[in-house]
Amino acid sequence: MTAVPQDLVVLSPQGLYCPAGDFHIDPWRPVARAVVTHAHADHARRGHGHYLATAVSAGVLRSRLGDIRLQGLAYGEAVLVNGVRVSLHPAGHVLGSAQVRIEHAGQVWVASGDYYTRGADDQVAEHNATCTPFEPVRCHTFITESTFGLPIYRWRPQAEVMADINAWWSANADAGRASLLLGYSFGKAQRLLAGVDASIGPIVVHSAVEPLNRAYRDAGVRLPETLLVSDATDSASLKRALVVAPPAVLGSAWAKRFGEAGDAFASGWMQLRGARRRQGLDRGFVLSDHADWPGLQRAIAATGAERVIVTHGYEAVMVRWLQQQGLQAGSFRTEFGVEGGETAGDGAAEVQDGGLSATAPAPGAPPHEDPAAH
Ligand SMILES: [Zn+2]
Ligand SMILES: [Zn+2]
Repeated sequence: MTAVPQDLVVLSPQGLYCPAGDFHIDPWRPVARAVVTHAHADHARRGHGHYLATAVSAGVLRSRLGDIRLQGLAYGEAVLVNGVRVSLHPAGHVLGSAQVRIEHAGQVWVASGDYYTRGADDQVAEHNATCTPFEPVRCHTFITESTFGLPIYRWRPQAEVMADINAWWSANADAGRASLLLGYSFGKAQRLLAGVDASIGPIVVHSAVEPLNRAYRDAGVRLPETLLVSDATDSASLKRALVVAPPAVLGSAWAKRFGEAGDAFASGWMQLRGARRRQGLDRGFVLSDHADWPGLQRAIAATGAERVIVTHGYEAVMVRWLQQQGLQAGSFRTEFGVEGGETAGDGAAEVQDGGLSATAPAPGAPPHEDPAAH
């Protein structure tokens, strides 16, 4: 999409840029002033001079980025940035995740960041219980993510998915084997923990997950008791344990200590035939922190926007659909990653969460590498 001077957000080499306010949104290269939608690594990067984000995301941002200059806002609270009104609104994706509303000279733009809302009518019952639910924000132009912007992506009610996970864990526990449940360490892991039935057995988490659990608990999110492997000395109870860990532990020495464990991956990518098979996993649970195809459509319609700009994932399909609805639509080529967003850039100590490796396409592989995209 070519930049028209009056556009409130354009694409710069550093990322999404608001010329009127002289700030970037989730920039991928260092800038003076960054508005950050959420703390996944592909949206929240090191090296910016100043950060503006939700106050509730401050704990996770600081734990990942160190001692940054950060101004925290409540949802709905507005500030002026060089005369441009900026406010942050719930995106329902992970703790503290926000859409960015920008108002200037009678124009309102909203940049969604990543968001979760399902296509069903029961939106309140369906929201991700570990963060504030998505709220549509009226605007003239909506910059939407489209990670799962293909008609094949339709999520089942999450209560059904959680029931499947509990049944799998319970059956493993009865058979005397641990249940290794893989999910991205920030967001997905906590959503899993909040949804499982902790009466089935003890819950062990990888050391990459526990600091994030702490941030969620500090923010008032209720999670069941979790143990680190080093705390779980009783090997009999380990055989009944649910073990929540990032995908990269698969096949590692860390994972092997659980012996003949059942293994499963919880991700939106599990909807793809072959994604689970490639990993050789026992089970794949389709659970995403991103909107499905009908969820994207409903969210876009609820903004009332006449112009929509699509980012990360399946842009062409979504743009075509939007144009068929009579909307003005285009795309921005961004450097945002796949679901989970925790690929390169995380600390060396943290396992690479989003992708499994550069050579082996896996459930977290970028959408355009998957045959389903073509
Ligand atoms: Zn994200
Ligand atoms: Zn993203």
